[in-house]
Amino acid sequence: PPSYKVVVIGGGTGGLAVSSTLSGILGKHSVAIIEPSSVHYYQPLWTFVGAGIKPLSESAKPMEELIPPNADWVKNKVEKIDPEDNSVILQDGSKIKYDYLVVAPGIQMNWNNIKGLPEAIGKNGVTSNYSVDTVEKTWDFIKEFRGGNAIFTMPGTPIKCPGAAIKIAYLAEDYFTKNLVRSKSNIIYNTAMGKIFAIDKFAASLNRIAKERDIEVNLFTNLIEVRGDKKEAVFKNVQTNEEKVLNYDLLHVVPPMGPPSFIAASKIGNAAGWVDIDQYTMQHLKYSNIFSLGDASSAPTSKTAAAISPQSGVLKKNLLDMMEGKFNTGNAARYDGYASCPLLVGRNKLVLAEFSGYTAQPMETFPFDQGKERSSMYYLTKEVIPDIYWNRLLKGSWVGPAKVRHWLSYVP
Ligand code: FAD
Repeated sequence: PPSYKVVVIGGGTGGLAVSSTLSGILGKHSVAIIEPSSVHYYQPLWTFVGAGIKPLSESAKPMEELIPPNADWVKNKVEKIDPEDNSVILQDGSKIKYDYLVVAPGIQMNWNNIKGLPEAIGKNGVTSNYSVDTVEKTWDFIKEFRGGNAIFTMPGTPIKCPGAAIKIAYLAEDYFTKNLVRSKSNIIYNTAMGKIFAIDKFAASLNRIAKERDIEVNLFTNLIEVRGDKKEAVFKNVQTNEEKVLNYDLLHVVPPMGPPSFIAASKIGNAAGWVDIDQYTMQHLKYSNIFSLGDASSAPTSKTAAAISPQSGVLKKNLLDMMEGKFNTGNAARYDGYASCPLLVGRNKLVLAEFSGYTAQPMETFPFDQGKERSSMYYLTKEVIPDIYWNRLLKGSWVGPAKVRHWLSYVP
């Protein structure tokens, strides 16, 4: 079978950030990226697409253009990893050997885990920003909404960008106000979680804004069924098990998510099925030549592209040190749990939540209170961060805002 110094599973945010640097240093045909999709999406833009602020086309680029010139693209899907044999098995049964493996296949959407959802999605007011197939429908349905119940949901599982479930509720409310249908509408955010946001400082901002804008927030309220023909959504209180049926005119669903199933099947997962790594070094806890980053990893922080920036820097440093025999846990680079969620609370208003998932404390870059909604942060997220993503993160040269934060801490 073909053999590579490094095999990277996934050409998403994490996979490309790591392979760009590694293939540049290790040279031609040293790094293989296994990725089935011919398009790469900048998913954070989908919140803007769902709200009609950006076109979907701006979130997409052909994979071909993004695969680093020195890396080999294997357009296939990994079926299983055999960590004892240092090999991966592909969907067509073929095998690729590796010296080092980087696992970055992202998170899996489990649409089927909500009864009736696969049949209902994309029609009659039921939509989701979490799929390329329906994100444009969100904007269609928001535009067509003429009043009634607009319901937004968040599941009880870990998801990518947990803030995205509520951002679209604020954006829809904002549009309904401009569109003069607000007075005829109930905006309801039903989350299976016990908090509106995991970090208290930003939860306080979101709660304040929800109150100011009369958005109803119900905690511990999990969507379990969609009856598309009757326009009914069934919710279950996760504490009392009590069920409640609500009529909807617009239903934005964030599906339950989980780790890709081949991770557990390959015996490299933790009890929950995420790639079982040391949360600081990004190295696998059992197989020292396996590393992981991004949504599929067990690092207990918010699953975001923002978190991948510093994770990629740490992973690359530790992996390259290991190749040179210099890596040990005493001198390893360590990831601090940094993540960020740009909380859009309206057109032109954004709370830039930055924090460590490890300490649950804010880690703000700017020398002002980021708990306040600002148009400067909206502009940053809409115009500047996409450029950093395409031209620096995916090219391997952006490892997060730690340096900027450090410099700005000297601003009097
Ligand atoms: P992905 O980028 O999802 O890539 C995984 C890749 O692996 C895919 O290309 C897939 O085709 C491939 N793959 C899957 N299975 C296999 C297999 N078996 N074999 C080979 N390849 C495989 N993040 C932010 O930082 N800020 C935001 O504002 C933000 N907003 C978001 C809004 C929405 C609506 C969504 C959906 C996401 C948002 N995110 C945001 C999250 C961010 O996009 C993800 O956290 C990030 O892209 C994860 O990167 P990844 O490399 O782990 O996975």
